[in-house]
Amino acid sequence: MTRMKTTDSSGDVRLSGIGKTYGSFTAVHPLDLTVPQGSFFALLGASGCGKTTTLRMIAGLEEPTSGTVFLGDQEVTHLPPYKRPVNTVFQSYALFPHLDIFENVAFGLRRRGIKSVKKQVEDMLELVQLGEQARKKPHQLSGGQQQRVAVARALINHPKVLLLDEPLGALDLKLRRQMQLELKRIQTEVGITFIHVTHDQEEAMTMADTVAVMNAGRVEQLGSPTDLYENPNTTFVANFLGTSNLIEAEVDTKSGDDIVLKAGGGKLVLPESRCSAPTTTGGKVLVGVRPEKISLTHADDAGEISEGRNRITGKIADSSFIGVSTQYVIDSPVCPEFEVYAQNIDRDARLVPGAEVVLHWNPAHTFGLDAAQD
Ligand code: ATP
Repeated sequence: MTRMKTTDSSGDVRLSGIGKTYGSFTAVHPLDLTVPQGSFFALLGASGCGKTTTLRMIAGLEEPTSGTVFLGDQEVTHLPPYKRPVNTVFQSYALFPHLDIFENVAFGLRRRGIKSVKKQVEDMLELVQLGEQARKKPHQLSGGQQQRVAVARALINHPKVLLLDEPLGALDLKLRRQMQLELKRIQTEVGITFIHVTHDQEEAMTMADTVAVMNAGRVEQLGSPTDLYENPNTTFVANFLGTSNLIEAEVDTKSGDDIVLKAGGGKLVLPESRCSAPTTTGGKVLVGVRPEKISLTHADDAGEISEGRNRITGKIADSSFIGVSTQYVIDSPVCPEFEVYAQNIDRDARLVPGAEVVLHWNPAHTFGLDAAQD
């Protein structure tokens, strides 16, 4: 079954001031969020941050304390789940053990009184690549296959929006990675809105075109995976989406579109557009750079580093060979335990613990955070 993406907005999900409290505890602070029709959207955050509660309010499984939920043009805030054009896939597949795969998928159609289900079920099983397994029982399938049945069963009634609550949580890592690609393919093929809840940043980044990073009941930042990774606005987002090296610095001057900062005895350059902190002279900024953006040069060769790169000095504290790259931990006066992942191309044999080094990178890969935000 292949459906083209449409330009209609019936699968838009719009949350306006939606919030949830349990007694005096606020699980979700009132939030505004629009998920456009046809997007693969991820709610990402650590356990307890409110992502499942948010999803359940969209599904109708949880009554919001405040705000409204719109699906397309229809307000559904107080509609029961079965009256909403959404369906949910949970971590537990919840398949009927006594029914075969075909009948599990056909269930939703039969319940609506539809008699001729064969073609629709076969198309759906083909979509999730389980055409051959139609007559097997759930226990005869692998975890990944069972989860695909759950997806097929959720899609058979043509919801406008599919909600996925940690659907891959029970799978081992290899299967999880396969299923991430598989879910992405299915979403592209059916073209409906998918909202996926996960605590796994790699999973969110692999699948979603937009990610909302949640922290303590609030959306801390919203953006494309690349945007969030390369240009985080808060230390929480910077650290949640990978390793970031953060250097305490102070705004010195501005130079065109760049800010020049003092860090230790040296200077660092940061494009102003990549700084979420106030940039008045003397302001404190946490200057961040991802480990794989940094090059490492032995101090004896520092003269060979091109002009215009940000640089700091340090000493190798530790190094571990991890296949395609070597991971170094550097002690630097401006950032203890600075992490660097250097590709193993022309690896310098002198880069061993104790060696004096210069870390350098293109200023374009630098981001700036508000040192006072937390
Ligand atoms: P997880 O990944 O562990 O499911 P989550 O980010 O999805 O976490 P939620 O399940 O949305 O988090 O829960 C948010 C907060 O609300 C948690 O602190 C949780 O303990 C609390 N909470 C959820 N449901 C209830 C409830 N019925 N009564 C009281 N507190 C609740």
